[in-house]
Amino acid sequence: MNLFNKILIANRGEIACRIMVSCKKLGISTVAVFSDADANAKHVKLADEAIHIGASPVSESYLNADRIISAALATNAQAIHPGYGFLSENPDFVRAVEKAGLVFIGPSAKAIDAMGLKDAAKDLMKSAGVPVVPGYHGAAQDAETLAKEADKIGYPVLIKARAGGGGKGMRLVESPANFKDSLEAAQREGQASFGDPICLIEKYIAKPRHIEVQIFGDNHGNVVHLFERDCSLQRRHQKVIEEAPAPDMPDSVRDAMGKAAVEAAKAIAYSGAGTVEFIADGSSGLKEDGFWFMEMNTRLQVEHPVSEAITGLDFVELQLRVAAGEPLPIKQSELAINGWAIEARVYAEDVAKGFLPATGVIEYLSFPKATEFEHGALRVDSGIEQADEISPFYDPMIAKVIVHGPNRAVALNRLTSALTNTCIAGSVTNLNFLTALSTHAGFASGDVDTHLIARDIDELTVVQKPDETALAIAAIWSLGLLPKHSKHDKTLWHDFTGWRHWSVSSQNSIIVFNDETINRTVSVLSANVFKVDAEAGSTEIGIDFISEAAIKVRVEGAYKTLQLVGKDLTLYLFENDQTFTFRKKDAMAEQNSAQELGGNLIAPMPGSVMEISAVVGQSVSAGDKLMVLEAMKMEHALQAPRDGVVAEILFNTGDQVIDGALLLRLEPVND
Ligand code: ADP
Ligand code: ADP
Ligand code: MG
Repeated sequence: MNLFNKILIANRGEIACRIMVSCKKLGISTVAVFSDADANAKHVKLADEAIHIGASPVSESYLNADRIISAALATNAQAIHPGYGFLSENPDFVRAVEKAGLVFIGPSAKAIDAMGLKDAAKDLMKSAGVPVVPGYHGAAQDAETLAKEADKIGYPVLIKARAGGGGKGMRLVESPANFKDSLEAAQREGQASFGDPICLIEKYIAKPRHIEVQIFGDNHGNVVHLFERDCSLQRRHQKVIEEAPAPDMPDSVRDAMGKAAVEAAKAIAYSGAGTVEFIADGSSGLKEDGFWFMEMNTRLQVEHPVSEAITGLDFVELQLRVAAGEPLPIKQSELAINGWAIEARVYAEDVAKGFLPATGVIEYLSFPKATEFEHGALRVDSGIEQADEISPFYDPMIAKVIVHGPNRAVALNRLTSALTNTCIAGSVTNLNFLTALSTHAGFASGDVDTHLIARDIDELTVVQKPDETALAIAAIWSLGLLPKHSKHDKTLWHDFTGWRHWSVSSQNSIIVFNDETINRTVSVLSANVFKVDAEAGSTEIGIDFISEAAIKVRVEGAYKTLQLVGKDLTLYLFENDQTFTFRKKDAMAEQNSAQELGGNLIAPMPGSVMEISAVVGQSVSAGDKLMVLEAMKMEHALQAPRDGVVAEILFNTGDQVIDGALLLRLEPVND
């Protein structure tokens, strides 16, 4: 059996790059596809060939099956790898690929069909002897019948859109009083996002742990499992940190889960990489009869690198071999777990604003020494390079930081250290949040469940303030006094109290940090030595550059190294695990923009316009719903900031908007 010579990758970002790395290793040529926004993207540069497939919105590019298949045919690619998301779990796409005479690198359309809807999948699993979450997944959909079923199951219950995914279309109901409203919301979300309002009801598991099993099948009837991943650290049902293996997993439960997952795969003659997701009751240790099938993801998963780390395998290579018709090169009995691996998803998002997705140009991007898309103690998978823009069109993931160690404690230390030493500027990120999670006591002890993050969200999202040293550096920078190059001035480091110029020049600095104006007076004492006065006291600080973006400072006899990047009016300062953004005050520009935007409806985040509830000419009152914006798989209702008359609506439904965009102009009411 021959492997492919050339394949097309129908995806973007880190996963497209990841797939190309394995292809290169195997001598397979790669064809990338790209949208307008991605013309200069990393995955395009990494590929041997690249084909433009359309405009930036996913519906016009990465979801455009015809364009993608034409690109594959035009470049003589033999197969298409779908990555994850986009068309990866679309059985119609699989059929179209095969009809065009190409190989789809993934399971059959039939297998995807079987697992596509959660209700049918659960019926199938039940008959295959796989435990499923108790609940109702029948045909009746009227509120009365469903409410009765919920009573039978016993509260709390979870309503799920059967076509749902990515945590969407799901509602937790604590008591019968809220059932009807929640059902309607889940049905609406199912219809709006997946074109299917049908819902199922499940028992809501107490202290739930999300544990999933990686499986692999081939076209010869072989199926193996590659152990489990614990993905219990979730925010709003979306994974944040994943690890393999699962903490405190007894061998007997691992075997039982692995067997159930293999059964599930065999029931649908599964070929390729897949993940069987289970929900486990973690209230008193994992038990053989305490886990239930939730759903199967018929694709490579975002978090696959942690399983690669503990098995030493390359899952994309396995996918390619299996799709080319080779039998699986490994047997269950040959597989063993080596050490511990953890992955953290680094996102452009504004944690302080409720994790709103963020956009912007990544002005600076630096990771500690790591492997890329390959095994290593620290592996960083990223589809973003410095100077790339996080656009509102796609998932705002910046990187996956993956650590591997001989045991969980070492892996966890490596995670904290890797996150602490990652510096990203230009867009806000969740790095501090991830670092806080990596040192969370419950997580460190392995006591995880899907509510951990929500329970301790305040502690995990504490906003750190810059210390006086950071403020002093920002003040010196704002006046243009930061030394540009290393002076290698030895006296700087041991002679603070020495010679002073007879007349010390002082200047006032105004910087802004988080809307707070900070005043300091900076005096130059000698070359690279400054005194910075605040109301509370003064700081003497010596500064020397040790590289382009790192400085060494001395304050009261103590040395430390910081990274910093200045860009126009903004200074990014990285101190320990914190990123501080300081701005030089530009009073004029601020006043103009405040006048321009005041009282109008502004996009609080990048997203797409889902619904416009107002019409031009309409009188509205403060608090009235004007629009619904969809961002990060969630709906956000936008309300009128004041009373007024709608003068202009600047976007249509379906349009993408950037953070801060003027959406709707409101004029004062004339009386
Ligand atoms: P789950 O499907 O159980 O949430 P994952 O955490 O693997 O499991 O989520 C992957 C999903 O996230 C994809 O199916 C897709 O909808 C979305 N996604 C995340 N990042 C990307 C990306 N770079 N490209 C496409 N889809 C993405
Ligand atoms: P999606 O397709 O959106 O990934 P899932 O069915 O996989 O939907 O569920 C997503 C998450 O919701 C799970 O990882 C888990 O945290 C939570 N969840 C799902 N079902 C239950 C349940 N029955 N009890 C408690 N939590 C659940
Ligand atoms: Mg899921």
